[in-house]
Amino acid sequence: MKNPNSRITFPGDGPWVAVSQHKMQKWATDEGTGPLAIRVMFAAIGHQNSTGHAELAKGELCRILGRADKETGRLEPAGSDTVSRAIRNAKASGFIAPESGARCLVVPRWVAIKRARDAWTCRVHGPQVA
Ligand SMILES: [Zn+2]
Repeated sequence: MKNPNSRITFPGDGPWVAVSQHKMQKWATDEGTGPLAIRVMFAAIGHQNSTGHAELAKGELCRILGRADKETGRLEPAGSDTVSRAIRNAKASGFIAPESGARCLVVPRWVAIKRARDAWTCRVHGPQVA
């Protein structure tokens, strides 16, 4: 059976571009990127698998959305309230799907598609069907 996630097709056969997941991951961690909801979207796209699920380790999104301490320059992880608010705002903007959480950010298929032969399952949400 051919993996349905190996094709890239957007609604209406609209145009698309490829992006670097490494760059998306970098922008997600960069305070200069902009609002946290945008950084959440970059984290989701940067880590998504071919089903659109970006599974993250416990505390990983806190680290990704962290900021440098103004006095010491050390990177401080974002607090859980900050992360929850960022996820809520990213959902409200349609950057990530409503079922997203701190342990798995879900990228809607009309936003970004990854062409790959990797897992069709998610530790948080279970097996996925295209
Ligand atoms: Zn998931």
